[in-house]
Amino acid sequence: MSPVSGSENADTQAPGPAEGAGPLVRVDGIWKEFRARSDALLSRARPTVKAVAGVNLEIYRGETLGLVGESGSGKSTLGRLILRLMDPTRGTVWFDGRDLSTLSRSELRALRRDMQLVFQDPYASLNPRMKVRSIVGEGIEIHDLARGRAKEERIVQLLEMVGMGPDAMNRYPHEFSGGQRQRIGIARALAVSPRFVVLDEPVSALDVSIQAQIINLLQDLQERLHLTYLFIAHDLRVVEHISRRVGIMYLGKIVELASREQIYANPRHPYTRALLSAIPTIDPASKPERIKLPGEMPSPVDPPPGCAFNPRCPYAEDRCRVKEPALETGHGSHWVACHVFPAQ
Ligand code: SF4
Repeated sequence: MSPVSGSENADTQAPGPAEGAGPLVRVDGIWKEFRARSDALLSRARPTVKAVAGVNLEIYRGETLGLVGESGSGKSTLGRLILRLMDPTRGTVWFDGRDLSTLSRSELRALRRDMQLVFQDPYASLNPRMKVRSIVGEGIEIHDLARGRAKEERIVQLLEMVGMGPDAMNRYPHEFSGGQRQRIGIARALAVSPRFVVLDEPVSALDVSIQAQIINLLQDLQERLHLTYLFIAHDLRVVEHISRRVGIMYLGKIVELASREQIYANPRHPYTRALLSAIPTIDPASKPERIKLPGEMPSPVDPPPGCAFNPRCPYAEDRCRVKEPALETGHGSHWVACHVFPAQ
């Protein structure tokens, strides 16, 4: 069976690491299409946006999978599909061996405890009219996990876990810095004791020095609570230290997936190399030559034929413009979708 991502007739085997624990999350041939707005009122021929286009993926227990791509690559949509915050157009998401599409409303509600989301903007995602006590305690109440004094103690414990004191309980979000607000957002996600957390650009809105603190906190919490993360970012620098594996998305598809070491030391796909070359470094001598990509990502309404990256790729050949490369592996743990630079 050859694993394929992004093909209409995608095989349902998903790429994963050669070793380690089994998958907690499995995504089989998932697509998400939206009807685009049309300028012509009452137009029936509204074009289709392929936000996610045939992704196969496994996320292993206890790992952090970094998912990186430009704005519009489909990475956040994929995160929401996995959490079942939106329904896929086709394809299946499995969580701990259960097909999410077969769950009843009450079963899905119960499963929501296991799967949480931390948002990019820690201010916009916190209700400004609610005190921290209510924000962090909301999930505890919804799932009836504790009441009264036990609930108060749990909130204090959660705040302590994210490095905040009990005095934060009676304050409002606007009284905190961006980093502290993101700590509150993390405490809110952890309040229901999830096993899997989608971190959707959780540090993108923060200063670089604060980013490192939040990433260290997330790593500590992962070890302490045995969490599994999908860490979404638009920047390979951000996911380098926390990820065990890294996937690169372009125009709704995964174009490279490998261990952290393979991605950073031996990137294959030209898009991955361009993203890596854009990372700022203190030592310019150790930095690969900057690869400047011409133009912008094409519209997902009308993706180019063949390899979707071909209009921007400095290595594009004739075959790249007619045949879509499949996501393939050379020896089992490094997957690349490229005719010219296949996995080794
Ligand atoms: Fe570039 Fe061709 Fe590889 Fe696509 S298949 S990334 S166009 S070399």
